[in-house]
Amino acid sequence: MPKIGVLALQGDFEAHRTALERAGAEAVEVRTAAGLDAVDGLVIPGGESTTMLKLIDAENLLEPLTAFGQSKPIFGTCAGAILLANEVLSPKQHSLALVDLTVERNAYGRQIDSRIVTLHPEPASGLPESLEAVFIRAPIIRRMGDGVKVLARYGDDPVLVEHGRHLIATFHPELTADASIHRRFLAKVTQG
Ligand code: GLN
Repeated sequence: MPKIGVLALQGDFEAHRTALERAGAEAVEVRTAAGLDAVDGLVIPGGESTTMLKLIDAENLLEPLTAFGQSKPIFGTCAGAILLANEVLSPKQHSLALVDLTVERNAYGRQIDSRIVTLHPEPASGLPESLEAVFIRAPIIRRMGDGVKVLARYGDDPVLVEHGRHLIATFHPELTADASIHRRFLAKVTQG
């Protein structure tokens, strides 16, 4: 059984723990560099990326997290996606810069603070034909580097993408009952 850490500094890490367990993983909360050493993959949850970044900096975790992502898979959701992207807009902020993406924060505007939509993932993704997705003050992926693979779009916007070992969702897969996206992450972890 893969052992997956959930970065538990801020945000909805608890829901990810439950979702990972439903998907068949052992899930533990991670708050330190030593905690990172003990896991095979990491989820960075949704929340508030600016706050999370401040806590990461305060705990001296920026370098250990970046090093972790250079050899092990990370699944970033919403604020976690923002932390993985190598360019963040609106406003600009630093990040772990592990995935070649430009993301614009809060890009759907105030009117659609949060909504639930049905996605139809790419047939080749191996994911169910339709999936519910919860968006909460979500970012939009504005640019993707070579090698970034789109697994699902909402309208024209890529919302679930993969880059090498990393998985990125601009929505909250931990808030719906279907565990197939978490299972896909587990497959990435076990396949190495
Ligand atoms: N708007 C948040 C940010 O910019 C992300 C929201 C979320 O994770 N649900 O960090």
